[in-house]
This record gives sequence, C-alpha cells and structure tokens, in this order.
Amino acid sequence: MAMLKLSLAFDVLAFVFFLCFIMSTGSYQYFLFVQQWPPTTCAVRKKPCYQNPPSKIFTIHGLWPSNYSKNAWVANCNGTRFSNSLSPALESKLKKSWPDVESGNDTDFWGREWNKHGTCSEQTLDQELYFQRSHIIWKAFNITNILQNAKILPTGSKWDYADIASPIKTVTTKMPALRCKPDPTQPKNPNNLTMPHQLLHEVVLCLHYNGRVLIDCNHTSTCKNNLKILFQ
Ligand code: AMP
Repeated sequence: MAMLKLSLAFDVLAFVFFLCFIMSTGSYQYFLFVQQWPPTTCAVRKKPCYQNPPSKIFTIHGLWPSNYSKNAWVANCNGTRFSNSLSPALESKLKKSWPDVESGNDTDFWGREWNKHGTCSEQTLDQELYFQRSHIIWKAFNITNILQNAKILPTGSKWDYADIASPIKTVTTKMPALRCKPDPTQPKNPNNLTMPHQLLHEVVLCLHYNGRVLIDCNHTSTCKNNLKILFQ
C-alpha cells in the first residue's frame, strides 16, 4: 500500500513538472496577430500619447503565441531576452508598421513584446524572423486599406460587428476577431437619447502554428455583442 501511494505521488509530481516544463518552454498552438487603431489606444490611455493626434493607420501591437484550451496567449517564457540587434533594414520597416504609439520608444516596445510573447514561440521564429514575419503579414493584409475600400472610414460612424469583420474576411478569406474598448468619454449612465457604443481598438488575424498561414479566429473578440462599434 505504501509503495502504491509513493508511486502515485511520484506520478503526480512528474506530471506537475511536465506541465511546468511545457509552460516555461512556451507550448502554443497558434498565433494571434494583433493590429491596433492608434487613436483608440491613445483615447483610452490616462496620459496623452507623444504624437497628438496619433496616426490613422492600423499598426502592429503584437504577434502572440496562444492556446485554444485556455483561449489565451502564453507569456513570459524562458528564452533569449530581446537583443536589440535586428537588421537596420528591418528596423526601419518596423518603425512604420510597429511603432510605439504611446511614447515613441520603438525599440523598448519591441523588446517588451518579444520578452513577453516572442519568447514563447522562439522554437518557430527567432527574433529576426518574429519581427520580419509580423511586418510581412502587416503589409500583406493592410487593414487600413481594406476598411477604406469597404467605405468603413474613421469618421465617427457606428457599425455592427459584421460590417467591419466581413470586408476583412472577404480579403483574407479567414474570420478576423475585433477587439473593442469602452469609450471613456461616454457617460456612465447614458440617457435614452444617446445609444451606448464601444470603440474599435484592434483587429486580430489568427495564424497557424508556423506563423505563415492564416486560419479562422475563434472566440477572441472583446467587443460586446449588443453595442454598436464607433470608428473614429
Ligand atoms: P501586451 O501584453 O502585449 O498586451 O501589452 C500591453 C502593454 O503594451 C500595455 O502596457 C500597453 O499600454 C502597451 N502598448 C500597447 N500598444 C502599444 C503601442 N502601440 N505602443 C506602446 N505601448 C503599447
């Protein structure tokens, strides 16, 4: 009996170690490629952004290795720290596609994103590849142009979720996910005359484990179903 208990305890311990190992080496199943709308990033922030008004181009927030089971990204894995040694050619491209919208310290932002997210997919994409692949996807699926061509312009109109998601799906052939933020300028208890709304903040494209092929995004939206989406 004592032997049986000991063996059971050993099995449990081994399983826990295995789980810890998997988590620390950054096991992931797919990527979220998150692009943000800078005016919303700055509108929901407590301090103004360094660039005022912020640019009206969707820019990269991050490429996040994620898991279906917890429906969440994995973060802060063991791996190389950001070495700040991207090729100059890539750096100059990233300054356009992946700027630090909040304070203008681009390399600091890239470093934070790599250390938190990139370390979890280093087995697939090393530092240069991680940023290079992100830039390529940003360029290939130009959300700003896609919405412009569909006449979804940042003029302060309110949209249904599908109005915005559909034209993106038409171009990419895969379902994106939208992320919204509450509008800080909206009264907490709107009266009957003002329809409550939310702000369009981010557009997520989902990618296969290899980071090359788009797949449908499932359940990653943070927008509220019953609220219109303001794009401004
Ligand atoms: P994450 O964990 O990748 O979601 O990063 C969240 C942090 O990144 C927050 O502190 C945000 O304020 C910051 N952040 C998000 N987008 C940007 C951006 N474009 N420039 C600078 N900081 C950002």
